[in-house]
Amino acid sequence: MDQELKLYNTLTRQIEKFEPIHAGRVGLYVCGPTVYSDVHLGNCRTFISFDLIYRYLLHLGYKVRYVRNITDAGHLEGDRDEGDDKFAKKAKLEQLEPMEIVQKYTLGFHDVMRAFNTLAPSIEPTATGHIGEQIEMIKIIISSGYAYEVNGTVYFDVEKYNKEYSYGQLTNRRLDDLLEGTRELSGQDEKHGRLDFALWIATKPETLMKWNSPWGWGFPGWHIECSAMSTKYLGETFDIHGGGMDLQATHHTNEIAQSQACNHKSPVNYWLHTNMLTVNNVRMSKSAGNGFLPGELFTGDHSLLEKGYSPTAVRFFMMQTHYRSTLDFSNEALQASEKGYARLMAAIKTLENLKPSATSTSDIKALEKNCYNAMNEDFNAPILVANLFEGSRIINSVNDGKEAITEDDLMLLKKTMNTFVFDVLGLMTENTPSNGKLDTTMQILLQLREEAKQRKDYETSDNIRKRLEASGFIIKDAKEGASWSSN
Ligand code: AMP
Ligand code: ZN
Repeated sequence: MDQELKLYNTLTRQIEKFEPIHAGRVGLYVCGPTVYSDVHLGNCRTFISFDLIYRYLLHLGYKVRYVRNITDAGHLEGDRDEGDDKFAKKAKLEQLEPMEIVQKYTLGFHDVMRAFNTLAPSIEPTATGHIGEQIEMIKIIISSGYAYEVNGTVYFDVEKYNKEYSYGQLTNRRLDDLLEGTRELSGQDEKHGRLDFALWIATKPETLMKWNSPWGWGFPGWHIECSAMSTKYLGETFDIHGGGMDLQATHHTNEIAQSQACNHKSPVNYWLHTNMLTVNNVRMSKSAGNGFLPGELFTGDHSLLEKGYSPTAVRFFMMQTHYRSTLDFSNEALQASEKGYARLMAAIKTLENLKPSATSTSDIKALEKNCYNAMNEDFNAPILVANLFEGSRIINSVNDGKEAITEDDLMLLKKTMNTFVFDVLGLMTENTPSNGKLDTTMQILLQLREEAKQRKDYETSDNIRKRLEASGFIIKDAKEGASWSSN
């Protein structure tokens, strides 16, 4: 099948045909979490969106090197060099070594990523593991004339850089406009320009996390780690760089400036940004206090949650909105997704036992094509999901004898449904046959319901179905008897 993958490039603000630097291979870098606290569901949305992108690139047959870093040093509270080091502050608060904080939240992050069935990146480099590379890069930027040192701290000279390159290109802003939005420098400021940012930060003697450098003891600025690690593992120019939209204006803008000042090349061909998860239209964040944790979501143990939701139902909920649109969390929306997901899974189960006919009344090739078209158009998962629901409708119609498909079409339908549901969307079946005890219990209940129906006690039979459905079970009646599924 001829593929033409198109994606929206933040750098050019248009949909472009994807052309990798090396045929058949893709270099993908995504900014990972700052591991000083648990990831909230908003962070997860970004990582799940890039998991979908990674999965689809793999499905298309690309050999992908997917690098997602762990920020375990250097991220200050304010994105522009203000406040304390996030790790040092938390370490003091919890009376732990900073590296204990890093270990605790890195493990927690991995657990959450596994629960959501995301694939592990090919390389997960840490900032603390690449201090040498960051120092080397800073040295080159200083010798190129785009950075200067004051009292052991090294700053990037934004105004000088902007004479040669365009600093605000990623957000399409002119330097004058950007300068207007920042505060005047005071006599106490070390930096020369209002937009200058730190590449290396001198530490006080009591600082816990510090390294020796040509400029004395200190730690790297937050942005330089991504420039150093992406260059190391993907090269001076690579294919795709991703992250949440909130990183565009500062973190990614500074990454481009650093890499360009060091390597004199545009570092990234395609910039991809995911939109935010919101709660009642307010961006989910730690500071807004609306950042519930995946664990709370699974158990329902949070004041904003009516009940618990399974990781796959949540993943499916996320897939029903395009990654570049905001996604507002609500119990109603999640419950609707839960039902949709259960319907999809029920259809996949029915598909296993579907019988072919001599002729087809449905165009399965068109269905397959529509699935690819959706994903090729900037990874449009919601349109893909709509097509998979059309697939489910066909499955149920064929099962009910209202439509028919040939043996070949049945094979193609199975391939299409399984590929897109499991490999591309990364959904899982949560009710597997190994769930033996539950299945036995459910069979007893369905049997009791059947017996009630036979003696025309419809009140009892309806009651059983309603109560099971209220607990998240889907009961499906068919000629050969009732079956169940759950989410
Ligand atoms: P952090 O750990 O704060 O560096 O964030 C990790 C990733 O989560 C970044 O790519 C952020 O852009 C992203 N992110 C943070 N908040 C949200 C949100 N509410 N919705 C979607 N992505 C988010
Ligand atoms: Zn980054």
